[in-house]
Amino acid sequence: MINGYFIAALSGLMVVEAIGWIGELLNLRALDPTLPDKFADVYDAGDYRRSQDYTRTRTRFGLVASLFDLAVLLAFWLAGGFGWLDEVVRSFGLGPVWTGLVFFLILAVAKGILDLPFQIWGVFVVEEKYGFNLSSPRTFVLDLVKGLMVAVVLGVPLMIGFLALFEYGGDAAWIYAWAAVVAFSFVMQILAPTLIMPLFNKFTPLEDGELKEAILVYARRADFPLKGVFSIDASRRTTKGNAFFTGFGKSKRIALFDTLVQRHPVGELVAVLAHEVGHYKKRHVLIATVFSALEMGLFLGLFALLLEQAGLFQAFGVDEPSVYAGVIFVAILLRPLELVLSIGGAALSRRHERQADSFAVTTTGRGDLLAAGLKRLSRDNLSNLTPHPFFVFLNYSHPPVLERVRALESGRST
Ligand SMILES: [Zn+2]
Repeated sequence: MINGYFIAALSGLMVVEAIGWIGELLNLRALDPTLPDKFADVYDAGDYRRSQDYTRTRTRFGLVASLFDLAVLLAFWLAGGFGWLDEVVRSFGLGPVWTGLVFFLILAVAKGILDLPFQIWGVFVVEEKYGFNLSSPRTFVLDLVKGLMVAVVLGVPLMIGFLALFEYGGDAAWIYAWAAVVAFSFVMQILAPTLIMPLFNKFTPLEDGELKEAILVYARRADFPLKGVFSIDASRRTTKGNAFFTGFGKSKRIALFDTLVQRHPVGELVAVLAHEVGHYKKRHVLIATVFSALEMGLFLGLFALLLEQAGLFQAFGVDEPSVYAGVIFVAILLRPLELVLSIGGAALSRRHERQADSFAVTTTGRGDLLAAGLKRLSRDNLSNLTPHPFFVFLNYSHPPVLERVRALESGRST
């Protein structure tokens, strides 16, 4: 078992975990007991204390969950679990593609069962304690079932196609697989907002009234179709407010959480909408999709190369190389690369958020309204106002809210 690949995979995994933990610990130490001045008008001392408690609780919970995951993976790996599972699935005597599918299904079900207690604890203990949780056990179970159905309907054909391509596609298989995965992700951008998200939330066109009028005026000026603006019933799960932009072309949608709509004045809601329109106008969904397509190409190219290395399979206790086992082993071996790319992706996303903020300032002429909206939102969501820069560098898809508020209030276009 112990060879170069074993050492590379194990040490890479440990380094990635350690970097994550260092980020979390620095983030805890950066919690500053003094409320930033900018937020004095929306937070009282109690809100601020609760937001810090919430960050602490979530961090501890996240650390326990990630330690548990790591322990399970290492125990399974070092006890020869992969080799054992490979023999079990081979003993069924199915072809390579179906054998692979069974291999993935067993791993996915096992992982799902192990993760379930953490998911339940996260929703019904952590979120509950801070008054965020509105999910009933029924909603929770329905979400699980629907999520599973989507995963099976979309994931199984994708997996079969992937395994078959690498099994029978020859040297160029990774290029075909890349093309297929890229096509799939573009199709998903269209299907997700119109077919999949509505399974989980009800999308309602805005009701007539002051908000719709104000949005109509803005949407006309910014040339965004009003029929793409919806309110969604986020309140069936959480009290947290949010908004997002998704899809492209005809499937593009802006969703405002009902929790947001209920609590913010119209001016702030239009400002939030303007930020989301900014994501559309600046083609952020397209850019992010292209970025992940390039990333996927890099992974698939490396996967094709590594699949030839018998040493990689030996490192995980598997004697006979196979495409399906390779998927798992390459994913573990490339964890450090994945970390680097996710840091790059987060930086790109923070850049897009800044652009969407300045778009909102330019098109509404009012940076202060979006700033006020963000402040109210961070208070209601108990956001961490003082994240550590290293933690932001590793994880944040948005710039820290204090930085955004400063930029918005000074009307700076970045
Ligand atoms: Zn945004």
